[in-house]
Amino acid sequence: MVYCPECETDLDIEEDEVDEGEVVSCPECGTDFEVITTNPIELKPVDEEDYDEDEPESDDSEDGDES
Ligand SMILES: [Zn+2]
Repeated sequence: MVYCPECETDLDIEEDEVDEGEVVSCPECGTDFEVITTNPIELKPVDEEDYDEDEPESDDSEDGDES
């Protein structure tokens, strides 16, 4: 039995059903967990640190070039 570290819901996954590096989602709280080890199953919450908010909000680039 593997329980969600967040809400302790039974995630219903078996050790031989998942691979290391696989991401599972908790159906109850929606948190994504990465499988760190499979024997025993160890889960790590996936935080989206890779998310680069580098895009400038320049959506209104009007071309005011009327002659
Ligand atoms: Zn949960």
